[in-house]
Amino acid sequence: MSSPTLDRVVDAVFRVDTKFDFKFVSESGQLWLNSVNSTTAAGNFLDLLHPDDINPFKSRVTDDPDSFACDVRIKKADGDCWVNIRGYQLPAANQYVICLIDISAWKADDGVHRYAAEHDELTGLPNRAFLKKLVDDLIKTAKHPFFVAMLDLDGFKKVNDTLGHSMGDAVLVETAKRLLKVMGPQDTLARLGGDEFVMVFCTHDAVVTKGLANDVLQAVARPYDTAPHSAYLGVSIGIAEYPTQGQTYSALLKNADTAMYQSKNAGKNRITIFSPTEDSEDFSIKSAIHKGIQEGEFFLVYQPQFDMNRKVIGAEALMRWTSRIFGTVGPDKFIPITEESGLMPFLGKWALRYACHQLKQFQQLMPEFVMSVNVSPVQFDCDDFDVMVLDAIVEAGVDPVKVVLEITESTLMQSQLKTQSALTTLREQGVRFSIDDFGTGFSSLAYLTSLPVSSIKIDKKFVTAIENEALACSTDKKLITAMISLAHSIDLKVLAEGVETEAQFAYLGASGCDYIQGYLLGKPISAQMVMALLESQMERTL
Ligand code: C2E
Ligand code: CA
Ligand code: CA
Repeated sequence: MSSPTLDRVVDAVFRVDTKFDFKFVSESGQLWLNSVNSTTAAGNFLDLLHPDDINPFKSRVTDDPDSFACDVRIKKADGDCWVNIRGYQLPAANQYVICLIDISAWKADDGVHRYAAEHDELTGLPNRAFLKKLVDDLIKTAKHPFFVAMLDLDGFKKVNDTLGHSMGDAVLVETAKRLLKVMGPQDTLARLGGDEFVMVFCTHDAVVTKGLANDVLQAVARPYDTAPHSAYLGVSIGIAEYPTQGQTYSALLKNADTAMYQSKNAGKNRITIFSPTEDSEDFSIKSAIHKGIQEGEFFLVYQPQFDMNRKVIGAEALMRWTSRIFGTVGPDKFIPITEESGLMPFLGKWALRYACHQLKQFQQLMPEFVMSVNVSPVQFDCDDFDVMVLDAIVEAGVDPVKVVLEITESTLMQSQLKTQSALTTLREQGVRFSIDDFGTGFSSLAYLTSLPVSSIKIDKKFVTAIENEALACSTDKKLITAMISLAHSIDLKVLAEGVETEAQFAYLGASGCDYIQGYLLGKPISAQMVMALLESQMERTL
């Protein structure tokens, strides 16, 4: 019996006529039949089946001759064995193609659950878990190259958004059927989720693979009758070859993904073979950010801000990303790439909306709570930045006065008239602005008075210098006092960030600093932990 460790993708392929009489049995099919002690002598596929499974199987075929799938039992002298059947009609020949995988070991080994865990519910295709096992296994036994193709539909989001999810599902099922017809019996098609599919082509030949990928383009290009008005879709494909373009499952998938993203960037609906480039690491991070945004891999944590009596006054929302490909990636790495790739307005808007909704919840425990949100300079390049901010505030139902936008000195220095008018509009509505990393940029005092700024955040660099006796540091220390008195003289509040020690806290207090933020009193934490912190603060003040 074939082992369920997937040493072969498909155990047998048959072609039968409409009465299920055998017309063709693949070589592997013959071997498999021998191994289960069955023969095709009877001449009819139904003769192989357990009597109870014949009618269910036939009704699956009649229900959906274009793509049927089910699990049935095959009669054997020493007991039955389970197989998974997948098949489709060949209308021209009035025949069906039946592909069969032996799953008896899965069934025995709590198999039903295992099968479900390794298959996608919507399309019945293998899922990510199955794919990984399959590729790992192919790598172990590989004697020749094989190809991993990443497929991502173009225009699918529009189908989902305009025609609804059930229509989207129907399109995915139809896509799966079309793709199954393109591939050979030794190839595998898996669905990773959403509109993302992976095909593993077991051919040795790059030219053949490219030909198959071309067939995929053609198959998807046909109008989709499942959706009204015959929706048209495309597919962007990226291919990586084992072993030259990846020697592990994750390397192959990552490189195929990078190539797929290059197809998208080059105008979609095309095939790209992976070729390593210098910035390929960044490139694939970009594609991962793109997907991460859609798949909810980003989240916010909140670092509490305190007054000099150590009472919480608000928090700064800080973005975090747990990527399924790269693991945890810090904002210092992903924010610059997001900015450069043009995705920052989108991600920044998400952060602001999310933070405003969270603010609403925090205010149920502490109405005067203030939420600070970082704004990247590139967000100001959008025409409707002020509208976007006000929409987020109105949508969450919070008071604009309780929202502080943190912007850097360079944003202000380079600000155009457009930025300045957006800042003024927002300030008129009550939104406040704070200058982040104050003192590290090209500080100019002029803008502090001419623009609607409410506070400055003294950079951690100065705070760290407090306990350091070195000469340069003692200058930084003096600068803290100077910055605080300067800010106060023009009615700005001062928050010091990166406060890690009691000595720093004491020095800042003595210098007249208004608020502090730093590991000494609070690291960035989850929203639930902020709620707990506010509750304990309320209890203490009661
Ligand atoms: P930032 O705005 O200056 O944020 C303060 C950073 O200092 C945060 O790092 C915070 O975790 C860290 N920090 C706070 N207190 C201490 C301390 O006592 N000691 C030390 N060593 N570090 C402390 P994080 O979260 O890694 O963020 C880094 C930068 O990424 C932020 O610097 C900000 O420029 C950017 N960023 C984070 N979230 C967002 C966002 O939602 N939008 C934008 N545009 N940028 C963001
Ligand atoms: Ca900040
Ligand atoms: Ca800062």
